[in-house]
Amino acid sequence: VGACNADAADSRILVFVRLRPMSKKEREAGSRSCVKIVSKKDVYLTEFASESDYLRLKRVRGRHFWFDASFPDSTTQAEVYGATTSDLVEGVLQGRNGTVFCYGATGAGKTYTMLGTMESPGVMVLAIKDLFSKVRQRSHDGNHSIQLSSLEVYNDTVRDLLSPGRPLLLREDKQVMKLLQQGNQNRTTEPTRVNETSSRSHATLQVIVEYRSMEGGSIVTRVGKLSLIDLAGSERALATDQRTQRSIEGANINRSLLALSSCINSLVEGKKHIPFRNSKLTQLLKDSLGGSCNTIMIANISPSNLSFGETQTILHWADRAK
Ligand code: ADP
Ligand code: MG
Repeated sequence: VGACNADAADSRILVFVRLRPMSKKEREAGSRSCVKIVSKKDVYLTEFASESDYLRLKRVRGRHFWFDASFPDSTTQAEVYGATTSDLVEGVLQGRNGTVFCYGATGAGKTYTMLGTMESPGVMVLAIKDLFSKVRQRSHDGNHSIQLSSLEVYNDTVRDLLSPGRPLLLREDKQVMKLLQQGNQNRTTEPTRVNETSSRSHATLQVIVEYRSMEGGSIVTRVGKLSLIDLAGSERALATDQRTQRSIEGANINRSLLALSSCINSLVEGKKHIPFRNSKLTQLLKDSLGGSCNTIMIANISPSNLSFGETQTILHWADRAK
């Protein structure tokens, strides 16, 4: 597949779940927790919410889901980065491609995980900082250049969030949070709510690392690419498991999520033909998914029973992506 290495020995998608803390709003609405991280890999979802309900009704209603790891609400940004992305960063320096995407309903914590805040920078920022520190350690080996491009896919059209038309050469990592926040502010906002990032917009950040050195009189180059994706809110995909799939596709609301999901399912099933051409998002990612391009998925969920249906859908989808 595209720029991926031919050997596809380990093409499995790693799937993680991140539970965010209960928000003030959810607490004030009287919501209870319906998700329990039972152990590192085991997530238990139940409609019954209190601890005693959990103990009593455990076997009656509810379901366990197993993932590569699940992160309880106390997990720090650095821990999430370390468990999901730091290995990919090492691979990118070796000339491989890797992809991490966050999937979940609006408000479930995707942007927090990917971009984060000034005080708690997320995966995108931590990855770039880590890249720079690794490159500095290796600067005697040859030349590395680090370029960023950030694209938004909205209604199946692609828009540049950082530097229209060309990747941005990044010389240092100090201002990266500011830069990415500016990019995030350029994301399409919901027409009905000014300032609110559209739940229908996918934001991708691609970090391209090019390495050059002279070895035995000839130039050696290696290019690796890390794709970090903050996907559109999945709540509109709820209906896709039901009969309304076609009308949703027709309305062009969630085509790219459906396309992504069918690419991932085809990859997981080991199919030869992967339908990358079905959407702009999957076209963008076609050299970054599958093969030996390591793919990581983080499913973001809220603990609140008010989001039970959405959480259930996400966990089912994530379960199928393994
Ligand atoms: P999404 O991008 O999925 O719509 P956000 O990342 O914007 O959701 O998260 C919604 C709110 O919850 C934000 O105010 C965010 O700061 C907060 N939040 C999300 N995840 C966490 C977390 N793990 N810890 C603390 N706050 C979080
Ligand atoms: Mg968001």
